[in-house]
Amino acid sequence: MPEQVVQPRIRGFVCTTAHPGGCAVQVSRQAAQVRRDPAAWSGGNLLVLGSSTGYGLATRVTGAFRYGMSSLGVCFERPPKGDRTASAGWYNTGAFHGLTRAAGLKAETLNGDAFSNEVLAQTMDRLREGFGPVDLLVYSLAAPKRQDPETGQVYQSVLKTVGRQLPIKTVNLNTEEVEEVALEVATPQEISDTVAVMGGADLRRWVEALLAAGLLAPGARVVAYSYLGPEVTWPIYRHGTIGHAKADLEVTCASLNETLAKFLGGGCYVSINKSIVTQASAAIPAVPLYMSLLFDVMTRAGTHEGPLEQAVRLMADHLGPGLRPTTDDEGRIRLDDLEMTPAVQAEVLERWSKVTTERLAEWGSFARFQRYFRQCFGFDVAGVDYTRPVETDLGWD
Ligand code: NAD
Repeated sequence: MPEQVVQPRIRGFVCTTAHPGGCAVQVSRQAAQVRRDPAAWSGGNLLVLGSSTGYGLATRVTGAFRYGMSSLGVCFERPPKGDRTASAGWYNTGAFHGLTRAAGLKAETLNGDAFSNEVLAQTMDRLREGFGPVDLLVYSLAAPKRQDPETGQVYQSVLKTVGRQLPIKTVNLNTEEVEEVALEVATPQEISDTVAVMGGADLRRWVEALLAAGLLAPGARVVAYSYLGPEVTWPIYRHGTIGHAKADLEVTCASLNETLAKFLGGGCYVSINKSIVTQASAAIPAVPLYMSLLFDVMTRAGTHEGPLEQAVRLMADHLGPGLRPTTDDEGRIRLDDLEMTPAVQAEVLERWSKVTTERLAEWGSFARFQRYFRQCFGFDVAGVDYTRPVETDLGWD
């Protein structure tokens, strides 16, 4: 395939192209930002489920370049085909492999459905043959559907509210207008289907299989990512279908925590992270508007963080060598502490109540959300010449 000029093709919260050069520059900048001298590396084995974008990628980069961890990643990305670009996570992973190879770090990635028994079996084979038991398992999947590997039943997740219909403020990503929309109310079936996709069942399957196979190291930690957020987003998030799924994930983690403590002296934790722009979060109504306001307020407060800063804090304060996680009363790691400070939330709430289409533009915050969104796909990255043709037919090795 000849080289081609790649431009973003965006509709709402979907971008169907990705720029290999922009993705590579970003991964390389992430690695440089966290990198420590190899003399300070503690090593160990890291398994990341959902390793190619967002929080999973940031944690993998941090584990590798800050701690020298060998990493096995699992993701579900679209390879390039003809003149169609690959998905961003594909290019990110290729770039990550290039950087780890140059640094002498071990890294492999399996591209396939993490919910399937085949990918679980392949992962266990690679651990047995190439890595050894896992010290840290990061569960960072964000998926719209899941096929139960035992029954074959396919569950679709939905983003709906639970209980009664409520209006919620949001920004229309196509018209760029602030508007109120009525959230649809989920049926009991839709709630349980969303729990089946994004709840704890699949995490339990992974942890129990790895434990039974002797592929979790003594003291192994497991961390699964979640979000709580402020009250203005609760109708869609915390009190919505996704919130029900995350509540199930928390219950699962608490029970797996007991199992891991008993058998390995390890632990299983939910980490409540800050809101960041990713393919997954951009799709949730109201959340892009909230993030637009939040980022501006947190930047002014000097506390704004992206996924990498969050991953660095997770390791430095909670999961790094010799550390015990500090948790809230419900056993959760809180990386959303800076987002949820009363001063930040009061300012965001004030803006939320006043925000209109004109004010959003005036505060400049939505432009920032859009830039972060384009960057998820390798666009709008400083230093990349987007007028130049690039090779899109790239693989991994
Ligand atoms: P993301 O869309 O950037 O990443 C999702 C990852 O899952 C990708 O690596 C993708 O390849 C992988 N994936 C999806 N389906 C898969 C499948 N069937 N098999 C294998 N891999 C699959 O999402 P994100 O926003 O980084 O979310 C990751 C986790 O962090 C989620 O649990 C999310 O709820 C949580 N979280 C996100 C935010 C946020 O604001 N983005 C905040 C707090 C917590």
